[in-house]
Amino acid sequence: MCEHARVTGPLTRPRARCARCLRPQAACLCALVRPTAHRTEVLVLQHPQEQRQAKNSVALLRLSLAHCEVAVGERFAAETLHALLHRPGRDTRLLYPDVPVAPAPPASPDIGPAAAGSVRLVVLDATWRKSLRMLLEHPVLSALPRLSLDAPAPTRYRAIRAARRPDQVSTLEATVQALAWLEGPCFDAAPLLDAFGVFVAGVAARQRGPVSTGLA
Ligand SMILES: [Zn+2]
Repeated sequence: MCEHARVTGPLTRPRARCARCLRPQAACLCALVRPTAHRTEVLVLQHPQEQRQAKNSVALLRLSLAHCEVAVGERFAAETLHALLHRPGRDTRLLYPDVPVAPAPPASPDIGPAAAGSVRLVVLDATWRKSLRMLLEHPVLSALPRLSLDAPAPTRYRAIRAARRPDQVSTLEATVQALAWLEGPCFDAAPLLDAFGVFVAGVAARQRGPVSTGLA
């Protein structure tokens, strides 16, 4: 009887996960997925610590974008990274803020809306400090031409994560802003950003717990 309780009791039973978004069933975000048309290829290099964070925005991004690939790791072998970064006919760009502490990017021609169909956009999903370390430890990443957002829009993320830098936004928001810049007016980000707002509100409510959810 004790053996039975140890194996199947509620304290030890692993939480069931959604097979699609890979989150616990209670936090499944599949109903929030908004298929969003785009032409740019997106590659997210996700730090392992971000993968299971309840507040991580990449699962919603991955499921809403048709051309979004996620690779999880902290250190990547050079050949693995090279294979991930480069695709025939694609101009690979690293989405990274223009900050003095980061290695200077190589000189590269500007790109704009006309290039959207030929760009492979690389995004680092990590805390600010860890993303800088990923950049410093992978010369092939810091050697990529960059796309830097001059003036990110205010983030909806502050409710659940204290931004350590004023221009730090969620990975989903930063990627969507970059896609809006690359793809121009034919890219409709509003449904996905609205869904992200609902996601943030849900995470914030769960963080506050059942006592105070009625105050919102
Ligand atoms: Zn799900």
